[in-house]
Amino acid sequence: MESRKCPFYKRIPGTGFAIDAFSYGNVAGVSSYFLSHYHYDHYRGLGKWLDKPLYCSQVTANLINLKIKLKPGIVRVLPLNESRVIESIEVILIDANHCPGSVMFLFRFPTGKVVLHVGDFRAHPSMERLYELKQRPIDELYLDTTYCDEHYELPAQEEVLSYIRRLVRRYALKYQKLLVICGTYTIGKEKVFMMAAEELNSKVWAPTEKRRILNCLDDSKISSRLATSPLEASVHVVNMGDVKPANLKNYLDSLSGSFTHILALNPTGWEYDGKMAAKGLDAISPKSYYNSIFIHGVPYSEHSGFSEMKRFVRFFRPRKIIPTVNVASAAQRQKMETIFTEWLGHSARY
Ligand SMILES: [Zn+2]
Repeated sequence: MESRKCPFYKRIPGTGFAIDAFSYGNVAGVSSYFLSHYHYDHYRGLGKWLDKPLYCSQVTANLINLKIKLKPGIVRVLPLNESRVIESIEVILIDANHCPGSVMFLFRFPTGKVVLHVGDFRAHPSMERLYELKQRPIDELYLDTTYCDEHYELPAQEEVLSYIRRLVRRYALKYQKLLVICGTYTIGKEKVFMMAAEELNSKVWAPTEKRRILNCLDDSKISSRLATSPLEASVHVVNMGDVKPANLKNYLDSLSGSFTHILALNPTGWEYDGKMAAKGLDAISPKSYYNSIFIHGVPYSEHSGFSEMKRFVRFFRPRKIIPTVNVASAAQRQKMETIFTEWLGHSARY
């Protein structure tokens, strides 16, 4: 194992807990490891060296069991929204609205202190109604600051999904043999291809490995839509990296005339900015190639946009905020601190 130093924002002071910290070997003083969700930048390094308990959600455990060899008995599944006591600290897992299995960790200390680590999350107004979060004030908030910059105004997921529905309908009316392709990573963006499949009343095809992953998500809606052959489905899921004109053209040709046109959806938060927000989603224009391939960027994000983050912070009013993303440079950290101070009306310095 590499032995880089575990950064402070992956530790919960006063505990033996470390969150998403597997690339530092056995960290001195850590007796329980937590994994917020199954994205590589969070589980990186996880392997047989681990000899302490690893706590996560059921879906994350399914994915670990499918993909990573660990010592037996290491993975401990915790339920959502139920309190469990680990090393004298109450721990509650709460859906993080990020990807399947993603959770936030709420820690309640015997002293009354409350710490919330959101992992990766997309803040949503519905979180303001969660009893577990509202019960006691949050003292320390470990915040996913991926889009902590006022330029990132992201449309709500609900809005983007209804845009995808309109888009798919429009193309399907124009091209009878339409294939919708959705780029994804290991997990995430499921709602995008499910929306396309619903609109086309179609099954979903994914390569074998991806299908195994989708079957791990404990989501019967997804599992029941999976096709066993590509020609059975008008919606195909591919690796994000394969959503390129030449690849898609070859793909279309390989499907022996079953489809004549491809609408490829490229869901990423980075596609959007304030200027585009003003024009609205329907103003996004596709890039077209070979008269048969249309690639649409869709601003479907699984991280909070700037306003959503602001609303979440202002609602819960934590005493301190510890950013967990884009923290490498002092200038970036300083900029975020200024933003937090403005949101809270006091310093959120940790
Ligand atoms: Zn993630």
